[in-house]
Amino acid sequence: MAVRQRLNDSTIHGSPMLYFDHNATTPLAPEAREAWLEASLKFPGNPSSPHRVGSRAEAALDQARATVAELIGCSALDLVWTGGASEAANMVIHHFARLNPTGEAWVSAIEHPCVLEPARFYFGDRLRIIPASPHGVVDVGWLTTRLRQSRPSFVAVMAANNEIGAVQPWREALAVCREAGVPLVCDAVQWLGKLPGGQVGECDFAIGSAHKFGGPKGVGFLKCQEGELIEPLIRGGPQEDRRRAGTENVAGAVAAAAALGACSRRAELAPERALWRDEFEQQLKARLPGARVFGEAQPRLWNTSAVMMPETADCRQRWVVKLDRLGCAVSTGSACSSGKEAPSHVLMAMGVPPSDAGRVLRFSSGWETTRDDWGKLLEFLVEAHSALSKERAAA
Ligand code: PLP
Repeated sequence: MAVRQRLNDSTIHGSPMLYFDHNATTPLAPEAREAWLEASLKFPGNPSSPHRVGSRAEAALDQARATVAELIGCSALDLVWTGGASEAANMVIHHFARLNPTGEAWVSAIEHPCVLEPARFYFGDRLRIIPASPHGVVDVGWLTTRLRQSRPSFVAVMAANNEIGAVQPWREALAVCREAGVPLVCDAVQWLGKLPGGQVGECDFAIGSAHKFGGPKGVGFLKCQEGELIEPLIRGGPQEDRRRAGTENVAGAVAAAAALGACSRRAELAPERALWRDEFEQQLKARLPGARVFGEAQPRLWNTSAVMMPETADCRQRWVVKLDRLGCAVSTGSACSSGKEAPSHVLMAMGVPPSDAGRVLRFSSGWETTRDDWGKLLEFLVEAHSALSKERAAA
């Protein structure tokens, strides 16, 4: 398969890399690559230019918009192209901050930092955190009760969590928000491309990112509330119906639409992929006693496995480095920008003690990952465990 080939081309010391970090980013899907190359050649114009070269680029951009809109179930008019999900999240939160300078933001405790940080920045002490259960699921009961007492400017509940893969009750959150007349912002970044996206567009605001579903990096979108004027975050030209200034990334948008379409055609493979992941987890627990899988009993993304590893290494980065040397890319699940790792806010919200949180690794597969790849990952983990145990004993 072409994607596999390209991943295997990214060799380390001449041997192919096993890639288990799709929640961080996915390799470019063959369909997206083809679409990107073709659009780059065929539509070189600026979509805002009045001549025919510009008009063709505009038509290609709008066709991509219509395709994504259809796949997520909204009107093309409500879709704004952005430079990624972080921009889309900042855009919508900035919009609400400007719309009502005294309003509150209610944001779930397990949101991605691209939602939590702008909410903190723009709302300060008017930010309220919606709690999550020990299984990493947002507490809709809390939301329902509080919405009877007061109304924030918006509520943010993600569709699926990036660290542990737990599927969130965003449809229930949407229903209670609708009843209260409060807009729901849904970060659907990890959902789209893995699970059917046809209802995501029903959310008042929904966020997507192409590089999480086989599209290029630096392309995302915000599905806006129907008929709502958006206070732009990026000011300048009148692009995107005056909602986001800047010349649009036509080839990127075309490739994003092709990638999302390709994922939707693979949807029926999901149950089998989930079985391979489950099989890996069962074997991992048998081979490495002390390993604990998060959210096992909950609805989860079929590709994600978040595991607390046995007490082998004093820090999970050691696991990542060791596995990397063996030829396997995995993740700690949460971004670590400082080099000194802070405990994951998602695991903290689930009540996981910091010492346990420090042992969690995330394995996230893609459509191209095989059952055999999961098997190889298991062998690498057993090998890394043995090496780390010896190093620990010698220290
Ligand atoms: N939301 C979620 C759930 C994510 O996992 C990520 C990326 O890790 C983002 C948002 C940010 O996406 P982008 O890289 O497009 O800004």
